[in-house]
Amino acid sequence: MEYNHYLIDIEGTLVKDKTFTPVEGAVEWFNEFSADDTRAMLVTNNTTHTPNELLGILREKRFNINDKQISTCISAGAEYLKKQKCRQCYIIGSDAIKRYMQSKGIQVTDSPDVDAVVIGLDTNLDYEKLRIATSALVQNNARLLAMHTNKLFVDGRGRISISAGPIVKALEYASEKRAYVSGKPSPTYYRKFLKKWSCEASEVLMVSDDPLADLKGAKRIGMTTCFVTSGVYRDKSILKQLASKHQPDYAYPSVVSIA
Ligand SMILES: [Mg+2]
Repeated sequence: MEYNHYLIDIEGTLVKDKTFTPVEGAVEWFNEFSADDTRAMLVTNNTTHTPNELLGILREKRFNINDKQISTCISAGAEYLKKQKCRQCYIIGSDAIKRYMQSKGIQVTDSPDVDAVVIGLDTNLDYEKLRIATSALVQNNARLLAMHTNKLFVDGRGRISISAGPIVKALEYASEKRAYVSGKPSPTYYRKFLKKWSCEASEVLMVSDDPLADLKGAKRIGMTTCFVTSGVYRDKSILKQLASKHQPDYAYPSVVSIA
């Protein structure tokens, strides 16, 4: 198959998990694109590292990638907060999100007195954090910004773990608010690339290990999709959960099978 443009997920697709060990053959496969951001972009919902940190890690693993070739939900989230004129936020998430927001002039506090509550993956989540976030949403009418709504991830020890999505759902339920989702699979996020490349959705192949979120969202706006079983889901049985219109166009063991 031949596509003009590729959107490629990172974790579970190019690398195995949070250790960032490359999937066998993925480095060579990706490097065929010779770091051309009009052909291939890496799109990730990673919230444990800033975009620059991710670039550094991937280059260390020998991926030949330029700094315009990566797009993350953190940078998209900061753009949203700026647009909504949010000045202060409470963050459930990593230090990377906090550092990035501060670098963009958004104040990060530990109190519920904020304009926005930001949710990313937080492996140290506890009840107190949920209480502060709920209080900000209910009592201070703060906006709810979800970096993404992923259900699961594979941790650095290869264990299936709960991601940020179920936490977002809990806060939506408690506050009766709907979150704005900055990363995949938000249609606004995906459409940015169609604009960037001035192309039709069908000319883009979206590759990911997550058919329920990443690929379903891409399919909804008309992109061609490719499911790889090198990440969260190790076989194709998960596809039974998808309606026929959301089924991926291709399903392969890994990106290496994409000719
Ligand atoms: Mg993934």
